[in-house]
Amino acid sequence: MSTPTSHDPTPERSQEIAENIEGVTTRINHALSSLGGNAQNARLVAVSKVKPISDIVAAYKAGHRHFGENYVQELTEKANELPKDIQWHFIGSLQSNKCKVVAAIPNLFVVETVDSAKKATTLDKACANSGRKEPLRIFLQVNTSGEDTKSGMTPAEIVGVARDVVEKCPNLKLAGLMTIGSPNPDLDNGDNPDFKLLNECRKQVMDTLKLDHLELSMGMSDDFQQAIRQGSTNVRVGSTIFGSRPRKA
Ligand SMILES: *Cc1c(COP(=O)(O)O)cnc(C)c1O
Repeated sequence: MSTPTSHDPTPERSQEIAENIEGVTTRINHALSSLGGNAQNARLVAVSKVKPISDIVAAYKAGHRHFGENYVQELTEKANELPKDIQWHFIGSLQSNKCKVVAAIPNLFVVETVDSAKKATTLDKACANSGRKEPLRIFLQVNTSGEDTKSGMTPAEIVGVARDVVEKCPNLKLAGLMTIGSPNPDLDNGDNPDFKLLNECRKQVMDTLKLDHLELSMGMSDDFQQAIRQGSTNVRVGSTIFGSRPRKA
């Protein structure tokens, strides 16, 4: 057992993280204001993967509540230790055999990375057995850049999977679409083509299934302002808030 104080950030680190969040928030608001009256609000998800619990405590004390994690075990440990009013976003690759553990985290806000109808069904069952009182929010992950290395379904698959979720997964709530996108997008005409494509997917899904609301999760440290100008409602920002991460071996 750790002592209650073992996760206290230093005052310097607390200040650094608070300032970084403030800086990102200011840039988000600039991007939103460039949209004029059309702006939806955009949520900032602080991506804390591989960062210590003390960093999350620092952000939490600065008033931040939405955090994103990529690894199930790390998320479970952090969720156990940290305040229960944190709203967790699972943004890592979701394996079927981990759905049960993920669904059991009571303050899980959304799983952003559902990438097939089969995975949705598995997660739906896990939620049914988890004792969750409300359907679990999910985003469907779309591989907008067509890179083999990226997970996510193809844009052509999205409407079918979305329909399956709406019609066959009573324990899930289809809340949005998510993309990572190409690291080197061609911004020739000012728009990021991945973000544009995700918007088109959203329109298709909303029109076909007659939904009146669907979020767009797109934008990370390097491109969150661009993403917001193209309609993102949920940006996932890690290194700009918490500093760079070690490369995975
Ligand atoms: C790590 C990660 C992020 C954050 O990336 P940064 O470039 O550090 O902001 C966002 N989304 C996903 C899916 C990630 O895995």
